[in-house]
Amino acid sequence: MMVRVDKEPTNLTKPNSSLDTIALHPFGGHLEPGDPLTADLTLSTSFKMAPDAGFTAASQGDDPLPIYARWGNPTVHRLERHLCALERAEDAVCFGSGMAAVSALFFSTLSSGDHLVASNICYAGVAELMHDLQAHRGIKVSFVDTSDIGAVADAMTPRTKMVFVETPANPILRLTDIRAVAERAASVGARLAVDSTFATPIATRPLDLGADFVVHSLTKYACGHGDALGGAVLGSRENLEPLRSSALVHNGAVLHPLAAWLIGRSLQTLPLRMRQHCGNAMHVATWLKSHPKVERVVYPGLATHPQHLLAARQMNNLFGAMIAVYLKTNMAGVRRALEACELFTLAESLGGVESLVGHPVTMSHGSLPVERRAQLGITDNLVRLSVGIEDAQDLIADLEHALAAI
Ligand code: PLP
Repeated sequence: MMVRVDKEPTNLTKPNSSLDTIALHPFGGHLEPGDPLTADLTLSTSFKMAPDAGFTAASQGDDPLPIYARWGNPTVHRLERHLCALERAEDAVCFGSGMAAVSALFFSTLSSGDHLVASNICYAGVAELMHDLQAHRGIKVSFVDTSDIGAVADAMTPRTKMVFVETPANPILRLTDIRAVAERAASVGARLAVDSTFATPIATRPLDLGADFVVHSLTKYACGHGDALGGAVLGSRENLEPLRSSALVHNGAVLHPLAAWLIGRSLQTLPLRMRQHCGNAMHVATWLKSHPKVERVVYPGLATHPQHLLAARQMNNLFGAMIAVYLKTNMAGVRRALEACELFTLAESLGGVESLVGHPVTMSHGSLPVERRAQLGITDNLVRLSVGIEDAQDLIADLEHALAAI
């Protein structure tokens, strides 16, 4: 029984509206007298059915009534339409976390004997999942440097079903040229999926560049306030139908409506937050690059980033708010610097309004084998900053204090 939910809000916002307007009025601005200005939160898991709904649900078309929340809930559905408006996607499916979204994508589109070409650097949880696909599910995975189009092309085989990239990639901020990889993937009939969590739709819209799927951990910038886990996959309705039926209806990886409501509220300020995040990151990166205790700064907005021109083109000159910093010190010095941070909180996660600092070797990427980490530049002296929306000068003062402790 494939059932979508509620009355589907149509995207009435004019196609040329700016993202600031779309973020606030994803379904157009028109309200009737008495309409609430803030979206309702529907927590109900079950909905009264019309007497014959059980018999006709499968043929209700695009506008069925909600029945049971594993098939869909009006608040979650509203978030899905909100995300579609921002990504210019035909459809979206939300999940209980970013990992649930990536798992839904892989498990619903790949089966034993298929071949996956994947970026050799990405969020470690996703890398572990792909190793698991290879070890236990009969899916062959080729891990390649997807910034090298030749390497992507060489890895393709007649069995390649999907190319998966994360751009910019966690934690070394390597970019992939989405348009170029999409062309390569299409040439062998494979589909391209892009984890665009770091870029957000404010900086990059992968579907416009030829990708077939966009994945987000909504826990990060989309939510932005550290109070909800969530994930989403966007693309065409046809491509997403298997994810809806197997990952939601059968596996039950649903997003809770309260989390959906919190994330939807946060999307209203996403463009505003991203401008402040990215502006701050540019200030901080520029200051760090000439600090005597800093060996190297990797930030797509700096002209020294090897893919700066691609970043300018593909990221709408926003460049994101994640910075990789290589310090001129050893593990003990890094530890002293991390302990001395006050505004930058040592914590997992990223993309929230407050600045965070992480140490990939001992935190997010600790599960990678040492040689792999060394090859990818994930070394003991690498520190990852998630730059928040505080005052940039205050953030710089905090880092100055931390670097003095090395
Ligand atoms: N994708 C990226 C790029 C991430 O950084 C993360 C988590 O850090 C995930 C996916 C997984 O998201 P979640 O923690 O919401 O499951």
